[in-house]
Amino acid sequence: MTGTLYVVATPIGNLADASPRAIDTLRAADLIACEDTRTSRTLLARHGINARTVALHEHNERTAAPKLIDALRQGKNVALISDAGTPALADPGAWLVAQAHRAGIPVRPIPGPSAAAAALSAAGFAASRFLFAGFLPPSAAARRKALEALDLPLPVVLYEAPHRVRETLADLLARFGPEREIAIARELTKKFEEVARLPLGAALDWLDERPEREQGEFVLVLAPGEERPATAMDAQRVLAVLLETLPPSEAAKLAARITGVPKSALYRKAIERAK
Ligand code: SAM
Repeated sequence: MTGTLYVVATPIGNLADASPRAIDTLRAADLIACEDTRTSRTLLARHGINARTVALHEHNERTAAPKLIDALRQGKNVALISDAGTPALADPGAWLVAQAHRAGIPVRPIPGPSAAAAALSAAGFAASRFLFAGFLPPSAAARRKALEALDLPLPVVLYEAPHRVRETLADLLARFGPEREIAIARELTKKFEEVARLPLGAALDWLDERPEREQGEFVLVLAPGEERPATAMDAQRVLAVLLETLPPSEAAKLAARITGVPKSALYRKAIERAK
């Protein structure tokens, strides 16, 4: 009998957010793989959990994982936690989880806090779909390029470090304009928690209102952009590509489905092109 790998979400600030199931799982584990054993000690000590801890972080994951897989193969139960929130979500852990799947070891999530979900829930943008874009690249040029791909008709969730939040808000303003809204979620679940939803044009003033606002942990949620209807130009391009392999009626039918432009108009264009 192999053991089970439990992927356990822990608080993102307020220790009372540890779920009873998370605590029970940590208490019952034979081994706890922690991103930083010293950071996790506060949570473990609070609940009198004395299980053996092993460090598993981005610099040692590939060497530490095989030892944990051996322990799981021998029937030990392992709990994986990160410094805060959900492991493997902008945090280490995915490599170990993948190795466990490969070895046929059961993997069970113990869901709980995540800064992304918390910020999205308090942002108030309809989020039946959203993009989690994690941290933007640190270099200014790469960050601006990354933003080009984020003009989407759905909320985009970004993590940001406090020393880069000003620059990132300025880049978002330059790319998406002053009217696009942003939710700035700061120090979630902690003493100085703030969630502000405002137009990008007002975001830097909001930071400037209080110097301490540039400290702490941040999630930024960019409001969805406009759904961009296909233009006549897009439709013609799609039609031209489809006409390379399909007869005009089929190409017009598919191009109409893809772009939403009426089929009759596209069929006329297709015939014109065929002539
Ligand atoms: N695994 C974590 C999760 O589930 O959210 C994320 C870890 S990632 C290394 C750390 C980043 O998450 C921070 O830089 C910040 O952007 C965001 N974050 C974590 N805790 C937060 C909090 N209490 N308030 C706001 N953002 C937070």
